[in-house]
Amino acid sequence: MTVSMEDNPAFNRIPSWVKAKLRPQAIDIIQKVYDWIETECIPAEAVYKAQVAKDHWKTPAVMHELRKKAKSAGLFNLFLPDHFEESPGLTNLEYSCCAEIMGRCYWAAQTMNCHAPETGNIELLAKYCTPEQKEKWLKPLMEGSMASAYSMTEPDVASSDATQIGISMKIEGDTVVINGRKLYGNAQWNDEMGIYILMGCSDPTNPNRWRRHTTLIVPSKTPGLKMKRNLTIMGYDHAPEGHGEYVYENVRVPVENIILGPGRAFEIAQGRLGPGRIHHCMRLIGQTERAYELALIRAIDPRKKPRGKLIGEFDSNIERLAQMRLELDAMRLVVLNAADVMDTQGNKAGKYAIAQSKILIPNMAVRIIDECMQMYGGQGLTQHTVLPEMWTYARFVRVADGPDAAHRHQVGRDQLKTAPAFKARFDGYETRRKELCEKWGIEFETF
Ligand SMILES: Cc1cc2nc3c(=O)[nH]c(=O)nc-3n(C[C@H](O)[C@H](O)[C@H](O)COP(=O)(O)OP(=O)(O)OC[C@H]3O[C@@H](n4cnc5c(N)ncnc54)[C@H](O)[C@@H]3O)c2cc1C
Repeated sequence: MTVSMEDNPAFNRIPSWVKAKLRPQAIDIIQKVYDWIETECIPAEAVYKAQVAKDHWKTPAVMHELRKKAKSAGLFNLFLPDHFEESPGLTNLEYSCCAEIMGRCYWAAQTMNCHAPETGNIELLAKYCTPEQKEKWLKPLMEGSMASAYSMTEPDVASSDATQIGISMKIEGDTVVINGRKLYGNAQWNDEMGIYILMGCSDPTNPNRWRRHTTLIVPSKTPGLKMKRNLTIMGYDHAPEGHGEYVYENVRVPVENIILGPGRAFEIAQGRLGPGRIHHCMRLIGQTERAYELALIRAIDPRKKPRGKLIGEFDSNIERLAQMRLELDAMRLVVLNAADVMDTQGNKAGKYAIAQSKILIPNMAVRIIDECMQMYGGQGLTQHTVLPEMWTYARFVRVADGPDAAHRHQVGRDQLKTAPAFKARFDGYETRRKELCEKWGIEFETF
């Protein structure tokens, strides 16, 4: 069946230049993802919550059932860009439209195996692993039979500068011995947790600081690897996935678990994060849209009439709703542009557009969701709505995958490199101004 994008809520927010680039197979998938979220995920939110509350560190039965169904409906691993042989065939731009829809429900991406950190990890393994390593680790991740974590951050250094990562990896013959501490990475307490993709320091005295680090796989049940506690995020434990705090005490893994080779962690880290960052941003836009819809519903709620007027009848709220709408649409353009640059010019060329998304979107989403909570009133800050979870997610994306300040620092430094070219251009204006002043007999003033 051919899906029509006309007057279709699955496509209403997609800008026309993007619609023009969507291929028929992508249009079909976007429609399926929309139907999936609306009919299978959002209505199941209460069941998911109740099941997690009952058995905290176990993936709930409803998630297992939905994953099975999504897989058989061909809605698994949609994020993997079409240049990978394992890809279901969407471009970054096409997948971005799906990711926005998935963002409407906090955990929906997981039903489709399109959630972080799995997406970045699968892409990493698909890009850098040998066929044997792929068979062992990529296959179960893509099948959804195992979970993984990416473990880089440490408590004792500024992890946004990854050259400081200090966990020790000593290569002794055919074994790597690991000692140190790590923060974050999904909880070992969940039985499905299979592997940690660990970044550590294997050659601390190498004069080239970009060659000191190694990335390898640590199976979660390896002796000596211990999860000390779960880290809560603004009070949420994010069970059943969580965020572990880990100690490595003489953890031994075979050298075959090293990805790409010793000293090559930075090549891997650079390749990992581009698409993942824009997935987060599109999901944030989807959830901010949902927050906005809740504010709209509250604006016409006949039970809520301060001073005898609907909330949406106050000019200040009409203005607020307009401003939020404008910002949401602008946010989407920024991220879809980043996806398109990645598709048409590659991830490296997309560096600026990806940073632009990573800096702007979480900040704007935090502000808009906050405003929606405010319009909703007291209940907007309680478990009666999804707003607090959404706000927390937007807030943590400002830090996760690198703090926005670090990205701004990089963008600012790159911008400063463009200054000499502007100086040359302005000097050219001055030369011409002098010539024109002489021609027309006007005094040439310097400022
Ligand atoms: C919910 C959540 C999930 C996470 N998941 C993972 C995970 O799965 N795996 C993982 O390894 N890590 C994870 N992290 C950790 C996250 O990636 C790090 O916290 C982040 O990279 C920053 O490192 P840091 O905490 O050591 O802060 P630091 O590097 O110490 O930075 C602290 C602050 O210094 C400032 N700063 C840093 N650099 C600059 C700069 N260049 N210019 C100006 N100011 C600067 C910023 O304000 C920054 O927030 C997660 C974090 C959160 C909150």
